[in-house]
Amino acid sequence: NKITIAIDGFSSTGKSTLAKQLAKELGYVYVDTGAMYRAVAYFASQHNLVSETHLDREKLIAQLSNINLRFQFNATLGFAEMYLNNENVENPIRTIAVSRLVSKVAEISEVRAKLVEQQQEMGKGKGIVMDGRDIGTVVFPDAELKLFMTSSANTRAQRRFDELIENGQRVTFEEVLENVQQRDHIDTNRADSPLVKATDAIEIDNSTMSKKEQFDLVLKLAQD
Ligand code: C5P
Repeated sequence: NKITIAIDGFSSTGKSTLAKQLAKELGYVYVDTGAMYRAVAYFASQHNLVSETHLDREKLIAQLSNINLRFQFNATLGFAEMYLNNENVENPIRTIAVSRLVSKVAEISEVRAKLVEQQQEMGKGKGIVMDGRDIGTVVFPDAELKLFMTSSANTRAQRRFDELIENGQRVTFEEVLENVQQRDHIDTNRADSPLVKATDAIEIDNSTMSKKEQFDLVLKLAQD
């Protein structure tokens, strides 16, 4: 019998790596909800609705019906890629530029309502592993297994920095650390669905656990 696994936590805690591995092992669908918020932020920046100094909230809300998001499985990569209005945006949504705007856009209730509805639809009647900030609290409050991932801001910034460098982006460690801390701040303090550990979530601090230890623990929890 297939269950719903909700994985929440701060930025760059290794949620998606764990979620991907778990989905693969269990034959479940993996959904990266951060990619959806990133795609909306990317759309907004392309249409000059958001920048580091401004946000045109009303215009963005009016444009929401023109934002079509879908995931498409890429067999070569082994995971689903994000498509915005039929364009593959997997690369542009991962840039530091989008990382600097995404939490501002994710604060808007109308944006959240649209994405949450779509996420709930994707999870219907399937084995699913979904990661984000509000999966165990808002999207799937009845999920059979909820995880909450934490680790120090430095560890997380280092992880994200290594990823960005690997993808050929020019950033400094300090810029990445600042971005991780800024997103944590906005995500935990917003009015709508702030980032908070669900009372029934199991907390996993991965600064003290190897990837293998983490995976073995979580797999066991999923199978019990
Ligand atoms: O998971 P990722 O770091 O890619 O998420 C990017 C941003 O999207 C987060 O910092 C947060 O502002 C927003 N987000 C959210 N709710 C989710 C997933 C992501 O608000 N479920």
